Amino acid sequence: MKLLVIGSGGREHALVWKLARSPHVTQMWCAPGNAGIAREIVGQASSLSGATHRQDACATKKVECVNIGAEDLPRLLAFAQEKKADLTVVGPDNPLALGIVDLFQKHGLKIWGVNQKAAQFESSKVFSQKFMEKYGIPTAAAGTFDNAANAKKFCASLGGKCVVKADGLALGKGVLICANQAEAERAVDEIMVSKAFGAAGARVVVQEFLEGVEVSLHALCDGKTAKIFPTSQDHKRALDGDLGLNTGGMGTYSPTPFLTEEQLAAAAKKILEPFMRGCAEEQIDYRGLLYPGIMLTKSGPKVLEFNARFGDPETQVYLTRLENDLVELLDASVSGTLDKMELKWKPQASVCVVMASGGYPGNYPKGKLIHGLAEAAQLPDTKVFHAGTVLKDGQIVTNGGRVLGVTALGRDLKAAQAAAYAAVEKIHFDGEHFRRDIAAKAFPESFCQP
Ligand code: AMP
Repeated sequence: MKLLVIGSGGREHALVWKLARSPHVTQMWCAPGNAGIAREIVGQASSLSGATHRQDACATKKVECVNIGAEDLPRLLAFAQEKKADLTVVGPDNPLALGIVDLFQKHGLKIWGVNQKAAQFESSKVFSQKFMEKYGIPTAAAGTFDNAANAKKFCASLGGKCVVKADGLALGKGVLICANQAEAERAVDEIMVSKAFGAAGARVVVQEFLEGVEVSLHALCDGKTAKIFPTSQDHKRALDGDLGLNTGGMGTYSPTPFLTEEQLAAAAKKILEPFMRGCAEEQIDYRGLLYPGIMLTKSGPKVLEFNARFGDPETQVYLTRLENDLVELLDASVSGTLDKMELKWKPQASVCVVMASGGYPGNYPKGKLIHGLAEAAQLPDTKVFHAGTVLKDGQIVTNGGRVLGVTALGRDLKAAQAAAYAAVEKIHFDGEHFRRDIAAKAFPESFCQP
């Protein structure tokens, strides 16, 4: 099979790395990709580390990065047609919200990801909130508003302690957590009156503030069946101890100790069953990945938001644990045959530590030479996924805020954490920044900083 993967981050490197290991794949492109993706080889069996052997000498070929942006739908379509791609896999949310799946399907091309109607679960928080309320999915008490005065009144009814969310996509910045009514009114004004997030703030969702432990769930869906993944936990804040600004994600680990297998199954039932039933009623053909952000509250798990694609950096820990052939899983998701598949996971834990550019999530420099990648690649059970990297004059340099996702497997979380940080210690670039407490919440009493 010939595969096209769309995107350029750590999530897409993890997808490419896992897909390239499938014996079904003979050729792969990634648009636009990054320096790490361009080093992956199709048909390569490997341990997590760089120690590799070739399965079949004829099938080995480098993944080719093509310089087409993830949102340039017409050129992506033309490329997939010209190359006769058998399957296109979409990583990021924007092309999904722009309708890339509908476009490819209209032209008879097979593509994995949600269609535009289903992408609304991520592109509109108002849509998601109303859907959750209509179909009895556990979520925060909330109101949806297109009028600032009414939104403020509702904030007051919650005592001012609330979360104000811009409806549309706002680069992960449209969620404002408020401690009192004055802050809540400022948040409503910022989003709806000053229009800090443009048209994304024409409507808002105001939710009660929920306390608890936050975890990420992932489920692969095929329109009828949803298969839940193990739990993982992201670290959104830039600094240790969950301090500093919100980021795209500074690290993840899986599994988390906060839900037993039984509790996870119960949460999946409470969330996924009404979700799939609601989709059927609303004629939403949900084929792709559903990623609910969950708060584990005293009164049970509650959905904070839905994402309609793989998480980044959740993908890095999930795919290093996944035993199945990912091509077969995505194919079943597209063709509606997931009920015949059983997801299989390695018993080991996985930890991913993101190495970011100094200054991220604010302004940061680019073009810093990255040292130590070859040394890190020698470590067992370790994989360095690239995010913001590019090849310049034959050398790999930084090219984004999140630069690398250093990921390691271990017999348990402690071992995986130690292995990930051992690899991080081998890698250096000017201004590098990473959190030293990824996975620490899993064992708060005994964690000592590496
Ligand atoms: P969202 O994009 O809706 O997931 O919100 C971003 C972050 O804001 C989440 O990861 C939570 O940490 C926080 N958050 C969102 N909604 C709530 C809520 N109702 N209560 C407490 N924290 C929240």
